Amino acid sequence: MTRCLDCGSERIADQCPSCGLTSAAAEVMFRRRLLKRTAVFLAGSLAFPYVSQIYPPLDLDLMLVFFGGLFFIALTIAVVLDRGARNRREIEVLKRIYSGFIPLPWILAATLLVNGKLDSQKNVAATLLVNGKLDSHKNVAYHPTTVDSRYNMPGIVRGTRRLFVHSWREGQKIERLAVDFDDYDRFRAGDSVVVGVEPGALGIPWYYGVYRR
Ligand SMILES: [Zn+2]
Repeated sequence: MTRCLDCGSERIADQCPSCGLTSAAAEVMFRRRLLKRTAVFLAGSLAFPYVSQIYPPLDLDLMLVFFGGLFFIALTIAVVLDRGARNRREIEVLKRIYSGFIPLPWILAATLLVNGKLDSQKNVAATLLVNGKLDSHKNVAYHPTTVDSRYNMPGIVRGTRRLFVHSWREGQKIERLAVDFDDYDRFRAGDSVVVGVEPGALGIPWYYGVYRR
């Protein structure tokens, strides 16, 4: 005995006693919903890296690794669900687990957005650019350090550029700054720089800018 693919209630005959769908109809409904949910998940999976480029957290690479794992697991579940539905296997538990995965990339993206956006809004009043000198953002902490090396991986959309600088954080040797193209080109190994870091409205420190000193 299996559960109805559409509503999840126990099915005694081919026609579900709760929603009235036959098992074939329920499978069609289920597959349609699976496709929709997967689309929502994939859209979030684009939103998260996008936001992470606007307000890149210092530990961005760690987050991307975590996110990569999450992405892989979710898509694997989607494939297993699809096959399970086709073979009319019991997939009720996996369905619930998959539902839990759908909002995760959106939650991550929203977290970074709030963390960075509210942080910078607090700073608007304090923004003062004084003749090329560092602007006096209240929240930004400036850390003097030196460039260790650079890393550039060309990508289809924007690629990955990292400026490795010696870390000011305890227990951490290197900070991998997610710099833009200009900053990547401006600095070489051994350069003395100052790195601006915002604390983040949600306590996730994010990379604000890098300057020559
Ligand atoms: Zn049903």
